[in-house]
Amino acid sequence: MKKLVREQLSRLAENPIQWDCPLAPFTTFGIGGPAEALIVVESVKELSALLHCFADNSLNWRFLGKGSNLLVADSGFAGAVLLFGQGLAEITLVDDSEPGAIRVRVGAGCSLGKLLNWCVGKGYSGLEFVSGIPGSLGGAVVMNAGAWGGEIEAVVDSLTVFSMTSGEELLSREELEFDYRRWVNQKVGNEKRLVVSADIRLAREDAIDIQERCRKYLQQRKIRQPKVQKNAGSFFRNPPGDSAGRLIDASGCKGKCCGGAMVSPVHANFLVNTGDATADDVKQLMEMVVNQVYKDTGIILQPEVHFL
Ligand SMILES: Cc1cc2nc3c(=O)[nH]c(=O)nc-3n(C[C@H](O)[C@H](O)[C@H](O)COP(=O)(O)OP(=O)(O)OC[C@H]3O[C@@H](n4cnc5c(N)ncnc54)[C@H](O)[C@@H]3O)c2cc1C
Repeated sequence: MKKLVREQLSRLAENPIQWDCPLAPFTTFGIGGPAEALIVVESVKELSALLHCFADNSLNWRFLGKGSNLLVADSGFAGAVLLFGQGLAEITLVDDSEPGAIRVRVGAGCSLGKLLNWCVGKGYSGLEFVSGIPGSLGGAVVMNAGAWGGEIEAVVDSLTVFSMTSGEELLSREELEFDYRRWVNQKVGNEKRLVVSADIRLAREDAIDIQERCRKYLQQRKIRQPKVQKNAGSFFRNPPGDSAGRLIDASGCKGKCCGGAMVSPVHANFLVNTGDATADDVKQLMEMVVNQVYKDTGIILQPEVHFL
């Protein structure tokens, strides 16, 4: 990145920019090389100024939530990586006048854990299914995150989004289309909209009952998922009518390794970093699993994890 561009970005960014910043610590896989610049954005105004600067200078950029559904290349990213700071992670009560329909505005940078704790404290139910999902609210919207029969799409009332094409927009529930682990109409033209905040609909319930449901879900995760080794959750999407974990297990891939990457012996749809895995190790393992399952069943597994 040219010195002049660096200077320009430094003037626009509210926080100090981290140059040549390793991305591994920003992902749950703990894998990935450096981004030329890592910028923690605090407002939509700042976001807009940065994106215009990237466009003017033909600079590549990508957006990162909590990095819990992401594999970053060993070579890192030639460009700027943005993530949201506290200014875009706030929780605000919008309306609690009706007993059954509480509306809360949540900044996209808010972690699901913090949001869920807040909900439990207030006695607001509806998000218990995210217990143990280590993402941000923005990432959960983009991925239509779900578990135990619940999905983010069921609680989203509207989204505030940003794109260079349309600026800041409010999208009502009727304008949003979700599918299995995907916000379908995220794009405006060729550009992906960024989620700035979401209004979500919750219900009032006894805090003890909400807490108990969260506890049960967490307990189930502890039994069914790898505890210690770093990972990005379910690596592959479930094919229609089946489970990727069952297919991988049936293909005998549990425990198989490529370098430091391993198919978890606990849950076959989790590829884990045993300590020193590289992104190449994970990709090789992914290809090995895809080939084996295809050979055995004719099904081509598709990754759920995004790549940077
Ligand atoms: C142990 C473990 C368990 C998990 N369990 C589940 C589970 O039960 N169910 C489930 O659905 N997922 C699960 N996941 C996967 C992951 O936590 C979710 O997909 C989560 O919603 C991703 O959020 P994130 O902020 O980490 O997104 P990231 O991984 O940072 O990003 C994912 C994608 O979303 C984009 N993105 C992120 N934020 C925004 C934004 N504000 N605007 C636009 N684009 C954005 C990124 O550019 C990227 O393309 C699990 C992961 C782990 C590690």
